Amino acid sequence: MVVQTINTVLQLRATTAALRSAGKRIALVPTMGALHAGHLALVKEAKKHCDAVIVSIFVNPTQFGPNEDLDAYPRTLDADREKLAPLGVDIIWAPAASEVYPAGFATELHISGPSQGYCGAARAGHFDGVALVVTKLFNQTGADVACFGEKDFQQLAVIQQVVRDLDIDIEIIGVSIVRDADGLALSSRNIYLSETERAAALALPRALNAAREAILAGVSIDEALATGKAALLAATFSNVDYFELADAETLQPARTLTGTPMRLLAAAKIGKTRLLDNLAI
Ligand code: AMP
Repeated sequence: MVVQTINTVLQLRATTAALRSAGKRIALVPTMGALHAGHLALVKEAKKHCDAVIVSIFVNPTQFGPNEDLDAYPRTLDADREKLAPLGVDIIWAPAASEVYPAGFATELHISGPSQGYCGAARAGHFDGVALVVTKLFNQTGADVACFGEKDFQQLAVIQQVVRDLDIDIEIIGVSIVRDADGLALSSRNIYLSETERAAALALPRALNAAREAILAGVSIDEALATGKAALLAATFSNVDYFELADAETLQPARTLTGTPMRLLAAAKIGKTRLLDNLAI
């Protein structure tokens, strides 16, 4: 079955109004396309909660910094459509940038709290851009539920904050990270990796697992984190933006296990590619 692709807010609203008047609950899965099994897991989760699923495919310019990969970011709409067709997706929402940010657009959102530190420190303005586009996607679709991956753990925390702060009537569902068979978290950016880099990238999930085991075995958190960072540099990562243990809700760095959910969070660069991963403790 071919999935209906919609490019204008007007047509999207007419279509979602019809779904709603037929009594259907709507789920939204926001993506930037270049879909892989991680995105498809979000769609499958969304289907469990709602009668109709909208997948947005939009490479959002406001979340990319001036020296980031906006132009190079993979755009594979035809292949994405084919991957979504067997999953029973109702709508692909694929607006042009000029539809989302028409001439004269003048609104900005600024989020602090969970956006501070980690990727927020490495990518100035990134989470403001995410908060803006996700708020717009929620308003455009009127979705009841939206699914986001734990792969982007800080992003998930930022979105939960925005929804609480702006009283947006939507349920946010976090979905576990989908990994390749060898353990590397799936990412649209993995296609940038050379064969050598792809092999070396495995050090990232391995370092997180090793840090988790060390911390649970009683090694000091500082030492476990320093060892993890060193393992990445030894595995030819050129730069480690962060390798940190944080409270899973507030994202505040943690130096003791308190019994509340904790998360190991890491971002590091291999060659020109920045990879993210995280692990629950
Ligand atoms: P992106 O297209 O990279 O912006 O990601 C769109 C959504 O897919 C976000 O909610 C991501 O967290 C989620 N996602 C990306 N990769 C994975 C993965 N490996 N496992 C689970 N969710 C993922």
